[in-house]
Amino acid sequence: MSSVFALVDCNNFYVSCERVFNPRLVDRPVIVLSNNDGCAVARSNEAKALGIKMAVPAFQIRDIIRKNKVQVFSSNYALYGDMSQRVMQTLLQFTPNLEIYSIDEAFLDLNGCKRINLTDYGRDIKNTVEKWTGIPVSVGIAGTKTLAKIAGCLAKKSNRAAGVLDLSSTKYMDQALAAVAVGEVWGVGRQYAQFLKANGIENALQLREADDSFIRKKMGVVGLRLLGELRGEISYPLELSPPRRKSIMVSRTFKRPIVLLEELLAAVAAYVSSGAEKLRRENVVAGVMMVYLMTDRFKDETCYYSRTLKLPVASHDTAELIRYAHKALREIYEKGRSYKKAGVLFNDLGSETMVQANFLDTVDRPRSKKLMQALDLINEAVGRGVIAYGALGTGQRQSWKTAFNQRSRSYTTAWAELLEVSCDEAGGANLY
Ligand SMILES: [Mg+2]
Repeated sequence: MSSVFALVDCNNFYVSCERVFNPRLVDRPVIVLSNNDGCAVARSNEAKALGIKMAVPAFQIRDIIRKNKVQVFSSNYALYGDMSQRVMQTLLQFTPNLEIYSIDEAFLDLNGCKRINLTDYGRDIKNTVEKWTGIPVSVGIAGTKTLAKIAGCLAKKSNRAAGVLDLSSTKYMDQALAAVAVGEVWGVGRQYAQFLKANGIENALQLREADDSFIRKKMGVVGLRLLGELRGEISYPLELSPPRRKSIMVSRTFKRPIVLLEELLAAVAAYVSSGAEKLRRENVVAGVMMVYLMTDRFKDETCYYSRTLKLPVASHDTAELIRYAHKALREIYEKGRSYKKAGVLFNDLGSETMVQANFLDTVDRPRSKKLMQALDLINEAVGRGVIAYGALGTGQRQSWKTAFNQRSRSYTTAWAELLEVSCDEAGGANLY
């Protein structure tokens, strides 16, 4: 019995999130920039039409932005994360068998829906998500995840498909595959795309018809799985419960290089806080912590410094982890160097119920647990970072903070930043 998957993909996701709360952005060129307002990571169709490429540095397109009044935003992860959750919640109405693949994409198992018209069902999914969340999506339906990706890619581009394409029957399959460049096939990286093109394989149809042993020799088992998926054999089933992560990493590039130890201590304390919060959210403790610093590659020969600590007792207590992280940081810090990035990696994650007691443990674990619970509860209810450890520093000392100069409001996650509506004298409503 064959399977049916749907890929639901949010269109220009970050831009679409901005538009939900700022209707003036509709039909205008809009881009969202990466951390420190570096590169364009999301573009509206109008911005794409101006020739703004994915990941282009903002300074390279200054003229295009000015000439065309492109609306520019810093990344607003609080908003995007919350909107993503709303989209996924909505998709759960259609099936509990859902794999959240990324912040703006999910695979759905549609095996229960084979008797109904899948295009209609896809359209129903699309309309419901748009109505409930304001986010436009495209839906690709097919017998494997790789083919569903291809269907989704065509659904987005084709005017006739208008956002929904069902390739679950083989009727239009060859035509569809021929329309997709080999580099756009899920799992074919840039290097493989180049290599395949050099060997006369330019589109997904040619890849499906490629010789198994040739692909195996050049791309290994992964290549063979890819061929199978293109031929309708499932190599990648739905992953309903993602495997527990093996590590948690928090790292950032500073908006300007940092020389002072005090500033680095504050930055690392902030990364530890956010990492520890993630550990607690997943009910795990870390047995090993690594702290690292990077200097400017061009100014310094050795640019990477790290220290790894085995913790005496696996932990997710923010204060305790900051203490160890600071110890490690002091060991690798050298005066006079200018650092551009720091990070903290938590490893050897285990369930919090499995914590091995240590006779020499100086931390009152039950008390620490209560304190952390209270901390998370308050920050969740009132706003992230409302309560934080003094080690993070305040105001002036937080020069390590990533720059988001053009960030929109956290419309959905902070009371103080709710959307405001006012009425003008004529009685019309204005959105701010
Ligand atoms: Mg997308």
